[in-house]
Amino acid sequence: MTVQTDVNTIPTTGAEHPATSAEHIRLVEQAAAHNYHPLPVVVAKADGVWVTDVDGKKYMDMLAAYSAVNFGHGNTELINAAKAQLDSVTLTSRAFHNDQLGPMCAALAELCKMEAVLPMNTGAEGVETAIKTARKWGYTKKGVAEGKAKIIVCSENFHGRTTTIISFSTDSQCRNGFGPFTPGFEIVKYGDIDALKSAIDENTVGFLIEPIQGEAGIIVPPDGYLKQVREVCTENNVLFIADEIQAGLGRTGLTFACEHEGVHPDIFILGKALGGGIMPVSAVVSSREILSVFTPGDHGSTFGGNPLSAAVARKVIEILNTREYQDNARDMGAYLFERLRAIKTDKIKEIRGRGLWVGIEFKESAGKAMPYCKKLMEMGVLCKDTHQQTMRLAPPLCITREEIDWAVERMEKVLA
Ligand SMILES: *Cc1c(COP(=O)(O)O)cnc(C)c1O
Repeated sequence: MTVQTDVNTIPTTGAEHPATSAEHIRLVEQAAAHNYHPLPVVVAKADGVWVTDVDGKKYMDMLAAYSAVNFGHGNTELINAAKAQLDSVTLTSRAFHNDQLGPMCAALAELCKMEAVLPMNTGAEGVETAIKTARKWGYTKKGVAEGKAKIIVCSENFHGRTTTIISFSTDSQCRNGFGPFTPGFEIVKYGDIDALKSAIDENTVGFLIEPIQGEAGIIVPPDGYLKQVREVCTENNVLFIADEIQAGLGRTGLTFACEHEGVHPDIFILGKALGGGIMPVSAVVSSREILSVFTPGDHGSTFGGNPLSAAVARKVIEILNTREYQDNARDMGAYLFERLRAIKTDKIKEIRGRGLWVGIEFKESAGKAMPYCKKLMEMGVLCKDTHQQTMRLAPPLCITREEIDWAVERMEKVLA
């Protein structure tokens, strides 16, 4: 196959004759695997809730990189922390210590009201790490027979894309063509406490759950469910593993989505926003006892806990400790819901979510969510569909009332 666009004609930033969006999209279609179906917008710059494409058109980012950009694009505090660290040291590997990791872990453990942290990079690695933690805890602390550990997960879950994680996905597209799969998982209905109770047996080491399901369409479980999960896990000596990679770190109006029900899991898995939209940073956060199942050589990652990531994460934690972003997510979230629910339209089946995290599910008769996302894009609002019928809104948590008004005006036009 011949590549029509000469790579050398795509100039880097600051070039006199920048390539157009169309040229960039053609190039990515030729040279990159087609494992995504992005909206046809090519972002070149970003600031706060706004992004600018290569043609100079401005859009409001109502997705925030799936909550990885919770603190806004180009957040000065975060960028400065990264820049300062770039000039000091960026990578040591865990063969040596670095002066950022300890302070980051201590601050993160405190934020989570936990005791210890195991740093990784991507969310999927964090989930893999939590699975390994629960299994080894089962064998060494609970007394489960070798090779028998079972982890219970939920229907419609999304925990990442590794071979083990897709093994317990209920989305056939995630699995098709990628077997054989990792055994040791049982799937129960999300939000159904009796299903969890009946699935637990003497080999059950953990229950892995998103306190609000993101990719499934911002599904909030029934009131009281997470409290019951906590009780059932405690009664049965099963680890409650909360995947707060997307729900956590301010998105829902509190630091953790579990806090809405006043529950504390045994393990938090964090990612996305922990890296401030700059670095991939994930972590498993738990008690000293649970994380003590790891001994040197058991597990690791070359980039996990690197000083650049740790410096950015430290600043993220510092920002979260001010509670400004959580408070704004709560207040602006309430305002966004109020405005959206007031839109007169016969296209919407349900508007749901928490904080600045909204799923707008379209009626079958209104068609799929994607065409509405495309129309919004043309009007300057970027968001994405999930599970065909649902439009997801998750703007950076620094969004203002005026910016919400601006977005809602456009939503009104598209939904009318
Ligand atoms: C995004 C996400 C993951 C996976 O994170 P990656 O960084 O993409 O590997 C895992 N769990 C949840 C709930 C997520 O939203």
